[in-house]
Amino acid sequence: VAELIDVTRSFTQGDITIDVLRGVNLTIQPGEIVALLGPSGSGKSTLLQALGLLEGGFGGQINIGGTNTASLDSNGRTKLRKTRLGFVYQFHHLLPDFDATENVVLPQLIQGTSRDEATARAHGLLDALGLGQRYEHRPSKLSGGEQQRVAVARALANRPLLVLADEPTGNLDEATSEVVLAQFLELVREQGSAALIATHNERLAEKMDRVVRLHEGILS
Ligand code: ATP
Ligand code: MG
Repeated sequence: VAELIDVTRSFTQGDITIDVLRGVNLTIQPGEIVALLGPSGSGKSTLLQALGLLEGGFGGQINIGGTNTASLDSNGRTKLRKTRLGFVYQFHHLLPDFDATENVVLPQLIQGTSRDEATARAHGLLDALGLGQRYEHRPSKLSGGEQQRVAVARALANRPLLVLADEPTGNLDEATSEVVLAQFLELVREQGSAALIATHNERLAEKMDRVVRLHEGILS
C-alpha cells in the first residue's frame, strides 16, 4: 500500500545542514502493521511526515496505493490524504468545540459519507473502544486515555489504506498505553488497514507484524 524509495530529507539552519533521512527504503504491504523505532531525533516524525503528504522538501519517491505522489497536484495530495490515510499523534489534536461523536463524524462527511452512516460508524468505533458512554463528551471532559481513543476512532473513520501514528500512546501511563494500543491494533487488523507506528517502546513494538529501525538516516 505504500512504498518509500530512496527518500531523503535535509534541514538547513543558518549555515548548518543536517541530513535527517539519507535514503530510506520501505515497502508496507496491505494490512501490515509496522513499528518504527529509533532514538529521539533519528527522524521518525520526519519519515511519517513524508508519508503524510503535508510537507514538501523530500527527495526520492513516495507511492501510496499504487500512485506516485509526485504525479499529484496539491488538490490530489489533499484528497489522497483525506480519503486514504489516517493520522494519530502523541497529543490528540481533537477539535475542542465538538463532542467525541462529531470528531469522528466530520472526516467522514468530508469524504462524502452521509451523516446517518457516519454517525453509525462513529458510534460503532467508539463502542469498540469502550467509549459507549462518552458520545457527547467534548475532549476537555475526557481523560487522556479517552481522548486518545477518540483520536484512534477518528483516524480509522474512513477505513484508510494506511494509518500513520506518531507515538500514539506516548503521553499515557504504561498500563493505559498498552490497553489503548491493543484496541487500536485490533481495530486496524479488523478493517484490514496497514499502519506505520512510531514508538519508543520496544515492548509495544513487539506486538506489531514487523519492526524497522531508523539509525543515522537509514532504515534497517
Ligand atoms: P523523537 O523521538 O524525539 O520524536 P524523531 O525521531 O521523531 O524524534 P524528528 O522529529 O523526525 O525525530 O527530527 C529529526 C531531526 O530533524 C532532529 O534533529 C530535528 O531537530 C530535525 N528537524 C525536524 N524538523 C525540523 C525542522 N522543521 N527544521 C529543522 N530541523 C528539523
Ligand atoms: Mg518524533
